[in-house]
Amino acid sequence: MIQFTQFRDLLAYCQQEPCSVGEAALRYEESLGDRSREEILAGARGLLEQMRSTIESGLFCEDKSLSGLSGGFSKKVMDFQNSPQAFMSPLEHRMIAYALATLEENSRMRKIVACPTAGGSGVVPGVLVALWQEKDLPMERLEKALLAAGLVGEIVSHRMYLSGAAAGCQAEVGVATGMAAAAIVEAVGGTPEQTLNATAIALKNTIGLVCDPVAGLVEVPCVKRNGIAGIHASAAATMALADIVSFVPLDEVVDAMVQVGQMMSPKLKESAEGGLAKTDTAVAFTEQLRQKQQNPPCRD
Ligand code: SF4
Repeated sequence: MIQFTQFRDLLAYCQQEPCSVGEAALRYEESLGDRSREEILAGARGLLEQMRSTIESGLFCEDKSLSGLSGGFSKKVMDFQNSPQAFMSPLEHRMIAYALATLEENSRMRKIVACPTAGGSGVVPGVLVALWQEKDLPMERLEKALLAAGLVGEIVSHRMYLSGAAAGCQAEVGVATGMAAAAIVEAVGGTPEQTLNATAIALKNTIGLVCDPVAGLVEVPCVKRNGIAGIHASAAATMALADIVSFVPLDEVVDAMVQVGQMMSPKLKESAEGGLAKTDTAVAFTEQLRQKQQNPPCRD
């Protein structure tokens, strides 16, 4: 069985074969022995279809979540792209809106693809489905891009739990951003070095990101944070494709994330005891929500 516990092993494999990170991910999955190459690619295609379906159902839906904290944001971004004030490209608008749509569907308790978690589930679908629709990329390239993203997440998961409760949001939206950066580079045909540099550059900029959700719900800041992260991943991918190299190698970036996660206060790890969760607005909202739950409206 092929094993990649460190990114340096993955890079050495890709250089030796030679092959892309997505191809290495495909061979790794094949080496697990329970699926053929065709079945693995079909599985990736199925996940991409589900991502697209989640985005389609959420994109123009204005229903609020049960808490009322989110809903309707993705439609606003799609509408805004027709404004004379719009300054980003159609691709970038889609990346933002698609990530928002996915998280809004998550807040409505509908079906999403967790990648790597529900809290970070908008970033990889946002960039991949936007690229799928805006660029004429072969489907196998997109499937391998998703596999590359998955392998990046898996290698990080050998070192840290991918959970806000364990290491803050750097382990959720942060890792999703690194995965999305790798997916973009793979999708447009970058080299393995560029793919892993994109991930390193993206992750370096999310180190220390805390998990401080208002009322303990995966909505504020999570929904809009996903909307931002695809653009963050795109910037990292663009730098890497332009052959900008991360000064700190990717494995050491992950070491730093692990260390920062261990140093982070438990108040900033999904406990809603610090940060945004303890602002006056959040505390007042949390109290209102508690009272509503204790005194639900009568229904005859
Ligand atoms: S802030 Fe916390 S709950 Fe929200 S996405 Fe990040 S890790 Fe998940």
